Amino acid sequence: MSNISSDLVLFNELVDVLINEEEQHPVADRIEADKLYDAIDLSLNATAMVDEELKTVLKDVLVSTPKTATRLFFNQLFGGRQGKAVLGDLLAVMLNNSMYTYKVAGPQVGIELEIIRQSCDMIGYGSQSNGTFPTGGSMSNYMALVMGRDAKDPDCRLNGMSKPMVIYTSKESHYSTAKNASFAGIGKNNIRFIPADSRGRMMPEKLEAQIIEDLSNGFVPTYVNATAGTTVLGAFDAIDEIADITEKYKIWLHVDGAYCGSVIFSDSFKHLVKGIERSDSFSYNAHKMLGTPLTCSIILVKDKKHLHNSFSNDADYLYQTDGDDFNLGKTSFQCGRRNDALKFWTLWKSVGTNGLKQIVDQQFELANVALDYIRSHSDYTLYSFDDSISICFNYKNIDPTTLCTALYEHQITVVGFGSFNDDTFVRLVTINANNKKQDILNFFKVLEEFVEKHPELVGATEAIQA
Ligand SMILES: *Cc1c(COP(=O)(O)O)cnc(C)c1O
Repeated sequence: MSNISSDLVLFNELVDVLINEEEQHPVADRIEADKLYDAIDLSLNATAMVDEELKTVLKDVLVSTPKTATRLFFNQLFGGRQGKAVLGDLLAVMLNNSMYTYKVAGPQVGIELEIIRQSCDMIGYGSQSNGTFPTGGSMSNYMALVMGRDAKDPDCRLNGMSKPMVIYTSKESHYSTAKNASFAGIGKNNIRFIPADSRGRMMPEKLEAQIIEDLSNGFVPTYVNATAGTTVLGAFDAIDEIADITEKYKIWLHVDGAYCGSVIFSDSFKHLVKGIERSDSFSYNAHKMLGTPLTCSIILVKDKKHLHNSFSNDADYLYQTDGDDFNLGKTSFQCGRRNDALKFWTLWKSVGTNGLKQIVDQQFELANVALDYIRSHSDYTLYSFDDSISICFNYKNIDPTTLCTALYEHQITVVGFGSFNDDTFVRLVTINANNKKQDILNFFKVLEEFVEKHPELVGATEAIQA
């Protein structure tokens, strides 16, 4: 059997292979899904494998796995890699703590709490606030919804749903709210999807009108989800205006900042979440704008009693020492819980809050590079707006679905498409803060060169339109 030291030597060797591969082939060779098992030996067998052979298989897997950290990956709401965060995550794997008790996690508890405390201070949540690290943004939204539900009807935790609750979110919000409504016993049909304005922001006047209508029909307005960075356009709902309404009707206000909530780290961009201190809960994903490895999601709650009321369950076999404040399992969804705090803390500790600001600001700078380029080239049509790191456009009226698929299949660049109202477009996400201006300009260059070589793409669209 191998020992950990030699495994780590192997690890370093494989990482060298990966880094080299990322430089040589920023877009991995694509394996068709139906040929996958023929292309790489993924089979699990009864017999052991010697390290040399294992190394070969692992190399094959590394080389053909989609590269999300390279300068040609723009497909997702994450991308790139902050080295210090990787360091922290590797240490978390070695330590292998579980975050439920101080007894088992020790200083790691303090690390998690420090991130939560600093984040709460940054958004002006006050001394009663607290938070936790759920498994991701969807789970953060779920925890927020459960707290909002229980705040409206505490009895619901014991007896189940007895009130006709309804919840509100914009048409442009993330789909997790719909799933969560079903998990939380509220039901998908009891979500009110509020229309968005021409820039993708929830319309507060429509929200209030819907609440008034629901009240007059005997429903119980329970929860409003506002979004800081919508999934397609990267739009920011107007929190202050929405908070005027939620305060008036006593409804829980959650701000889903999974995508762009990290603007709280930037003096230049935190105005986009103005009024955040008036929300009841707020979540952000450090694995999106802040470049930490997946997943690293933080939910903050203005009044910590809600976290306790909704998520603590006494378990004498587990909570034997150290008091509740350091036994984080009292306020988490899971029992055993991965240490997602150390990677973010290692990054934050090393670059400081000023460094996190730079990471955020760089993404908006890259977005401006892309916006300028699109605005000064008449072959492009722009669909997105300022103050967003989602740059939405079409090129030469080529069908964006066809274009993105062709770029991916030819290993040119990995970028996705999205829709808003009746338009579908390419969505370039400038979230990789390691990228430079040159990398964004290079994206347009490789796209244009590709289209030049494939004139049928332009023709195909014209044929479809004709
Ligand atoms: C990514 C995203 C989520 C979901 O976060 P996961 O960590 O992927 O579960 C929720 N809301 C918004 C606005 C997002 O962009």
